[in-house]
Amino acid sequence: MGSQEVNDVDWQGKHVTVAGLGVSGIPAARALYERGALVTVVNDGDDERSRAQAAELEAWAAARGASGGGERRGSLTVRLGDGDTLPESTELVVTAPGWKPGKPLFQAAAEADVPVWGDVELAWRLRGPDAAPWLAVTGTNGKTTTVRMLASILEAAGLRTAAVGNIGVSLLDAVLGGEEYDVLAVELSSYQLHWSPSPRAHSAAVLNLAPDHLDWHGSMDAYAADKGRVYEGNRVACVYNAQDTATEDLVRAADVEEGCRAIGFTLGTPGPSQLGVVDGILVDRAFVPDRQKRAQELAEVGDVSPPAPHNIANALAAAALARAFGVPPAAVRDGLRAFRPDAHRIEHVADIGSVAYVDDSKATNTHAAEASLAAYDPIVWIAGGLAKGATFDALASGAAKRLRGVVLMGADRGLIREALARHAPEVPVVDLDRTDTGAMSEAVREAARLARPGDTVLLAPACASMDMFVNYNKRGEAFADAVRELAGESG
Ligand code: ADP
Repeated sequence: MGSQEVNDVDWQGKHVTVAGLGVSGIPAARALYERGALVTVVNDGDDERSRAQAAELEAWAAARGASGGGERRGSLTVRLGDGDTLPESTELVVTAPGWKPGKPLFQAAAEADVPVWGDVELAWRLRGPDAAPWLAVTGTNGKTTTVRMLASILEAAGLRTAAVGNIGVSLLDAVLGGEEYDVLAVELSSYQLHWSPSPRAHSAAVLNLAPDHLDWHGSMDAYAADKGRVYEGNRVACVYNAQDTATEDLVRAADVEEGCRAIGFTLGTPGPSQLGVVDGILVDRAFVPDRQKRAQELAEVGDVSPPAPHNIANALAAAALARAFGVPPAAVRDGLRAFRPDAHRIEHVADIGSVAYVDDSKATNTHAAEASLAAYDPIVWIAGGLAKGATFDALASGAAKRLRGVVLMGADRGLIREALARHAPEVPVVDLDRTDTGAMSEAVREAARLARPGDTVLLAPACASMDMFVNYNKRGEAFADAVRELAGESG
């Protein structure tokens, strides 16, 4: 089962170890069992939830086996509480994307010369002969937004499509689900790309590159190299961010099909083979005849919601992939107009007394927070949480001039406070040291006190949420609740 063989694996009787009993492991185990593989699922945890999932999966396999037509079906067992021992006779490991490369299971696989695939690799290998091509998106920030914009544009063009991958709908489900697609808009995380040697996209984009998940990848170079895999074997276009040279370097390093083009996107005036912005209009100078002299109008900045600079960049990347696939300009405009951002991504919650309240709880790292801070002026900034090893100097100095005030909360707020003291000493800072459920309510009240008419109160924490909330959704909901409470009292 070398990485070059595609779609020609005879699964009957193959010993496959599925690592991780989770959102990707369960569908993988089922698909392999149906094809006659001898599947062992290994899982680190042996908690109540894993036991219930294991029992359900084994019962499903037993029922399938008993219901006849079982000659192509294999076997399926689950081992709980030991995700590090490679079962004997394993010929292939299929892993959940998040499992770290340094895990003993993978060392054992490497020593035994056993290949390791992620869920995306498996989906690629199991897809049918006439499967829909992939338009793939990766990057440190903006992936989900761009993939949803892209799907919206493809739909506006009348194509059968879906937003899949690292976005809630697994590629395996999309590829095996029986529904027919013309093209898929695929979000790929750096973890998924790490475990995917084979997928070949029609076209792909890397939106931006900033340090993230370095503990997992081991170094910035390793992280970038995994992101760069998305370009390998592209047939039509490698879309890069002309304002982030690291993404262009990845295109240069990629081995692509003959004739595949490098297409840049920029918030400035585009050169030939780029998409960009001229006088508030998104224009295409890549997929037009006579691109030395002409540009094609695609949409207006106001067609993009929200029209923040980083989001215009996302729209340009989505447009570039759609244009590479042959989508006409009017569908790009219609698709962008129809797109609505997911919750907690620069979501406008309310205006209270001419102050706007914006929820960007999804800004869980400094690169994301920098983008949303660049979109408003003046700002009362609510920040803090778990820093994940980040430093805040660049963020504080970049935003200093636009900050009316700052409200800090969460475990690592001291790091942000110190950065502000160094780079924005004149900006008032309110430091909340409570972490109970009422803390967000107090943060919003303090922010309201600092704000003046015309300001924006922006929740862009630059940190993960798990010190105080279950996840970033809950943090955003707490913010929106607190804002509505305040609106009720004011109105
Ligand atoms: P991802 O799927 O990569 O996590 P999302 O589309 O969910 O990205 O956006 C996450 C956050 O990243 C947003 O809330 C916003 O703060 C920020 N963001 C979105 N697009 C960009 C971009 N192009 N550059 C920088 N930050 C961005």
